[in-house]
Amino acid sequence: MHRQHLEQMVAREGLPVRDVVCDLDAEETQCPACLTTFKTAGVRRCPSCSLRFY
Ligand SMILES: [Zn+2]
Repeated sequence: MHRQHLEQMVAREGLPVRDVVCDLDAEETQCPACLTTFKTAGVRRCPSCSLRFY
């Protein structure tokens, strides 16, 4: 369900749907929806578009 929502969101943004791994174990990761790069420490949502991560 989350996955489908994500793909719809990405499609709406006009971005190619692709397999993106949000690596929350890395120091920084990139939001698959808005491509914002942000620090992962304590973050479970994209600070830019509020996309939620696992
Ligand atoms: Zn985002």
